[in-house]
Amino acid sequence: MSAVLAISGVQRTFTQAGRPLEILRGVSLSLNAGEMVGLLGPSGSGKSTLLHIAGLLEHPNAGEVEINGRASASLSSHERTLIRRNEIGFVYQFHHLLGEFTALENVMMPMRIAGLSKEKAITRAKELLNNVGLTERETHLPSQLSGGEQQRVAIARAMANKPKIILADEPTGNLDEATAERVMKALLKTIRGEGTAALIATHNREVAASLDRCVGLHDGKLKPIK
Ligand code: ADP
Ligand code: MG
Repeated sequence: MSAVLAISGVQRTFTQAGRPLEILRGVSLSLNAGEMVGLLGPSGSGKSTLLHIAGLLEHPNAGEVEINGRASASLSSHERTLIRRNEIGFVYQFHHLLGEFTALENVMMPMRIAGLSKEKAITRAKELLNNVGLTERETHLPSQLSGGEQQRVAIARAMANKPKIILADEPTGNLDEATAERVMKALLKTIRGEGTAALIATHNREVAASLDRCVGLHDGKLKPIK
């Protein structure tokens, strides 16, 4: 099976207080189509940094990221943007919904930017919102939604352009336990339903246990977790 995401030999060093801080020291990871992988590791271990690099939001100091078999390092920033827009879906700890647009419009937005017709975008956005249980909230603004509902809209939006890969950075880290559980269920159900691969940074052991496999980030290195 071919990898939808292949990270190889990735290194990332930040400078803090004038001194180099090696956060990723040769990280390699492959995700096959539809595979769901948990990314564990203590706060500050570099999970977000790795997700940013995997999502072509940041460049590593060394190493390569291939998305659907295509090496990214030498691509122009426009080409990287197109890959991000069409092949990757992001879910963050904070939803980053556009406050002046309704739930439906927020989910439609990536499809309209990608050139899909209004009718098709509406149909798919309604289907995605229905999948996360928000049919009754289509016309609500983000400010009129609860934290868990906002996050479910963000999940629907991440799926809009049928990405092959979802990158989720502690997607329920900002929610109370019961809400987090409901949102995570919606996320996993949506990912499985769409057949998308996912790399999910999480502190939640139960969530981690429900994924296909997990890797742990420690001292800049990635190790499989049983
Ligand atoms: P995690 O998501 O696992 O909590 P992060 O990837 O956010 O970890 O951060 C890992 C380390 O890298 C932290 O020590 C953080 O302070 C540092 N770091 C992250 N981004 C930057 C940056 N842009 N400049 C300097 N240091 C950074
Ligand atoms: Mg983080």
